[in-house]
Amino acid sequence: MQQTIASKLPDIGVNIFSTMSAMAQQYNAVNLAQGFPDFLPSEELIGLVHAYMLQGFNQYAPLAGAKPLLENLAAKVEKLYGASYDPATDITITCGATEACYTALTSILEEGDEVIIPEPSFDVYLPAIQLSKAKAVFVPLTFPDYSYDWDLIRSKITSRTKIIIINSPHNPTGSIITEEDIVQIQKLVEDFGIYVLSDEVYEHIVFDGKKHLSLSANPVIRENCFVIGSFGKTFHVTGWRLGYCIAPAYMMTEFKKVHQYNTFSPVTPMQLAVADFIKREEQYTSLPDFFQQKRDLFLNHIKDSRFDMIPASGTYFQMLSYKKISEENDIDFAARLTKEFGLASIPVSVFYHDKTDHHLLRFCIAKKEETLLKAADILCKIYA
Ligand code: GLN
Repeated sequence: MQQTIASKLPDIGVNIFSTMSAMAQQYNAVNLAQGFPDFLPSEELIGLVHAYMLQGFNQYAPLAGAKPLLENLAAKVEKLYGASYDPATDITITCGATEACYTALTSILEEGDEVIIPEPSFDVYLPAIQLSKAKAVFVPLTFPDYSYDWDLIRSKITSRTKIIIINSPHNPTGSIITEEDIVQIQKLVEDFGIYVLSDEVYEHIVFDGKKHLSLSANPVIRENCFVIGSFGKTFHVTGWRLGYCIAPAYMMTEFKKVHQYNTFSPVTPMQLAVADFIKREEQYTSLPDFFQQKRDLFLNHIKDSRFDMIPASGTYFQMLSYKKISEENDIDFAARLTKEFGLASIPVSVFYHDKTDHHLLRFCIAKKEETLLKAADILCKIYA
């Protein structure tokens, strides 16, 4: 007998990434919507997975992750950010950064807690907050440069504020945090004792000679911070669902309790392959140039179009404004762009709880040159 289920997430439907990917497929459109590469990852990396499978590494990995991956990741973080984390207690390998965000938030949130979410914001945090019966407190980033208004943020802190979400490089805007932001985050931690979830999945994709500032590098913030990363983004394997969370042992203990009954552990041979691969620095130090070339190729080819651009400082996304072209809302415009012109993107209003619409679309530039050129050709033909 079917009964009515009182939904725990009544306002949540199919997410925009699945929706736009499906629309792209239906209309045979070039898909710059969902963020994933359309090119192959390293053959060598795939070979390593295969080799580990043949060697018999096909059973459960330990709860926190395969030992070599935990150790090599700790060494990488120490080298890049000067942060010393104990691989035995402070790291968990997760089923994508999505699981890491969910697990971090649900492990720490209690009913009635408040979470500061600067907006626009990636869609992965809110459901975990709602399932924990906590409250999201949305604070807009400034427009159009998407920087943090720290006075505004501080004015939203209450005795129930538990954690703030920081995402740099930022999805969807491509902005990055500054040294001054870090000073301000440290002050929040010192003044109010709040926690920080630092989503750094695009840590290796920062352009124009700028540097990624990891919150793990700050000794005060680090004591209260979940740092979340993604091997999927770094090695072009988003479908392998391999991410991680790093935090001091007292936070990680709670994190592991939730992770244990959520996924237990991600795929063993992939963990081992990535463990070998992250020792090879050039695999990630080459990424800024690799993706900047793609960003620049895309932007150069649309410079005579009617779209306005502010080059992204990081991530593999680029936002474009269609203000000169249409007054339509961005969801309708994105749908029309897919159906009539054959190019799928993501409308940026979906990243705001109140659907703030600045007439912007987000395009994924993690694509082959030919895909980007096809997309640019389409954009250049749109006048109205
Ligand atoms: N991170 C990807 C993006 O922003 C989407 C991930 C997903 O589909 N949930 O496009």
